[in-house]
Amino acid sequence: MRALVVGAGIAGLVAARQLGLAGWDVVVLEASPGPRTAGYMMDFFGPGVKASERIGLYPRLSAVSYRVEAAEYVDTNGRVTSRIDYDRFARAAGGRVLSLLRPDLERASLESLDDVPAGRVEVRYGARVSKVWADEHSAGVDVEGTAKATLTADVVIGADGIHSVVREQLFGPEQEFLRPLGMRAAAYIADAPDLHDRVGNRFLLTDSIDRTAALYGIRGRRVASFFVYRATGDDVDQSGARDRLRRAFSGLGANVDELLALCPAEPYDDVVAQVVMPTWHRERAILVGDACGAVSLLAGQGGSLAIAGAALVGDILGPVTSPAGIAPALAEVEDRWRPFVETAQASGRRAAASFLPANARKRLIRRWIIRASGLPGIDRLVARQIVKRIAT
Ligand SMILES: Cc1cc2nc3c(=O)[nH]c(=O)nc-3n(C[C@H](O)[C@H](O)[C@H](O)COP(=O)(O)OP(=O)(O)OC[C@H]3O[C@@H](n4cnc5c(N)ncnc54)[C@H](O)[C@@H]3O)c2cc1C
Repeated sequence: MRALVVGAGIAGLVAARQLGLAGWDVVVLEASPGPRTAGYMMDFFGPGVKASERIGLYPRLSAVSYRVEAAEYVDTNGRVTSRIDYDRFARAAGGRVLSLLRPDLERASLESLDDVPAGRVEVRYGARVSKVWADEHSAGVDVEGTAKATLTADVVIGADGIHSVVREQLFGPEQEFLRPLGMRAAAYIADAPDLHDRVGNRFLLTDSIDRTAALYGIRGRRVASFFVYRATGDDVDQSGARDRLRRAFSGLGANVDELLALCPAEPYDDVVAQVVMPTWHRERAILVGDACGAVSLLAGQGGSLAIAGAALVGDILGPVTSPAGIAPALAEVEDRWRPFVETAQASGRRAAASFLPANARKRLIRRWIIRASGLPGIDRLVARQIVKRIAT
């Protein structure tokens, strides 16, 4: 059996690995010229933990993870206004939380393709898919770029992220499914040795109104950052992102100013949104990861769900050995996976209401909630709420 996977992000690579291990021939088509280096620090908890243990990926993830001591909100003078101890955060999230850089998670997934017998999975970079079809008899894609081609297979797996072309081609235009949450998120990694040494292994967030900048020191004396700020509409234009960030975040303190001075010309910058669809499979095609079920950074589980959903595709589609078995398998994946996505999306929407305090009073309430989570006895309950609200 042969599968085409569109997108070599976390979801696409894990789906390819699992199908390859089950004996499928898989071609992964990725638009970017190589593994993407853009990234931010993410908390890896929830369904992806169990799934990655089950499929043997967890040790690779654990090996590249970071030890975060605490998340600290700071004012413009760098004074800590509230603090969440990471052990407390981990307990509230059910015990195990890894802090991982997105590119490290993607690279670990790529390297895990070594577990698949040679020749089963081929990853083609610089291969942008522009057209997709899938009916009851076959599925295929047109590929642009250096690997220009038309390819056919038994099934197409759309793992091409929140602005999925597979979704647009097979299910309808983006506006039908994208639910913007009223903010944008940007991220980049900067070479900043002094800033790195000052930040250490704390996760620093600005205690600011309508916007939050976050930074964390990573290996190589670099600093990983992300910025979340209010923006309406579903504008996905990435041009002018550096100017936009500098305008929105200057004046939040010396650390942030230093970071903004190092902003690359084109940082990652996109709308914070969820993808909500009535169905995400057809006879010979299925979407996975953010393409069908983006939960947003506010749910803090996108990477985790990408792995768990893709692993499930491997479990259910993997054993299929004839075309007739494909449609029922894809329907079963969606049936079993949808409740997890919907639960995380509901949590992301709740978090959206309080993630960026709209005024000083709401900011004060957040400080109180976080401080209260440090009191003995109520930590589990309150910290669980904080995990949902802060979600970083
Ligand atoms: C600031 C920020 C913080 C976050 N924090 C967390 C967190 O704490 N915890 C967490 O679990 N998650 C977090 N997330 C979410 C997480 O990063 C995503 O949910 C996850 O990476 C989704 O993976 P994916 O493989 O579905 O999609 P993506 O990573 O978007 O991969 C899609 C791939 O498809 C490729 N592609 C797109 N179009 C085409 C095409 N036409 N042809 C070929 N290839 C194509 C892209 O180049 C890309 O490589 C965060 C996200 C952001 C933005």
